[in-house]
Amino acid sequence: MTPESLARTVARERRPEPASATDASRFVNAWVEIESLADERVRAFVLILRTRGCYWADFKGCSMCGYARDTLGRSATPAELAEQVSRALARYHDEPYVKVYTSGSFLDDREVDPTSREVVVRAFAGRARRLLFETLPEFATEAALVPLRAAFSGELEVALGLESTDPVVLSRFVHKNAPPSAYFDAAATVRRLGLRAKAYLLLKPPYLTESESVADVVRSVIEAAPRFDALSVNPVHIQGGTVVEWLFRRGRYRPPWLWSVVETLRASADRRGSARLISFPTAGGLPRGPHNCGSCDGRVLAAIEEASLDQRFEVLDGLDCSCRDAWAAACRLEPLGVEA
Ligand code: SF4
Repeated sequence: MTPESLARTVARERRPEPASATDASRFVNAWVEIESLADERVRAFVLILRTRGCYWADFKGCSMCGYARDTLGRSATPAELAEQVSRALARYHDEPYVKVYTSGSFLDDREVDPTSREVVVRAFAGRARRLLFETLPEFATEAALVPLRAAFSGELEVALGLESTDPVVLSRFVHKNAPPSAYFDAAATVRRLGLRAKAYLLLKPPYLTESESVADVVRSVIEAAPRFDALSVNPVHIQGGTVVEWLFRRGRYRPPWLWSVVETLRASADRRGSARLISFPTAGGLPRGPHNCGSCDGRVLAAIEEASLDQRFEVLDGLDCSCRDAWAAACRLEPLGVEA
């Protein structure tokens, strides 16, 4: 089975059946996490809306992305989206940073219609200082962004899943549907309109070794830094219904080491220019997430978070553990096809 046919098979199997009106009135999840605004630590309210999800995930999808499982299998109506927002506001306590995700693109009309987008943004206007949403680059147009800018009094931040600035990595290993230049163009549009542009960079897509993936992200930070206001290094965690999970279950994929996150941040921090460089690993320390040996994971994760919040990367310099040698051996031996 080729990687491409595997991706399409996995995509078909994870696609949900059309959901009931009851399910469509409930958002997927909401929580509060620590973030930073400028140099200030703040609480951030994260909301996942339930929508039809990413159109690309229906067709093929990215090799690490299983968010399609949180979607409706059909478009949500404006009334259903309004009900989700209303329920979310009951959990919102004026956190200054708000992040709204949709398991896809907030700016895709099939997921969130233009009127509902304004409803979402206005719900937090005057209460949040910054509001983030994520989109694929083809939807980040002036026509979609200008009404939202008018509807929100604070800063809007547009997140783009660039993942890698290498076109081969992006298309063959991550399985994105657009080249890096499309993400650069979208970021330019976003910034020309006075909004913030944020890029997600993926650490260790399948088919790259540990050391190749570190090098790929370091180079991506250097190339993307002039074009974005923030760069978030996202180490892969194993999501259900993905190519990565298919490989993981067969012993052909290990999530990245936390040492690789440390190494990536240390190697690229001085090359980030004025962009914020951050990493908040999902499922850190867990078997299906980025992890080390188990005994040092909490300490290393705390240091990564400190460095990200304060933009002071010296905190990563003194970290050590006996498992660091195993990571170094894995980086040396993996290209030879040898299990370290
Ligand atoms: S990572 Fe983004 S573009 Fe890729 S399938 Fe998931 S939601 Fe779609």
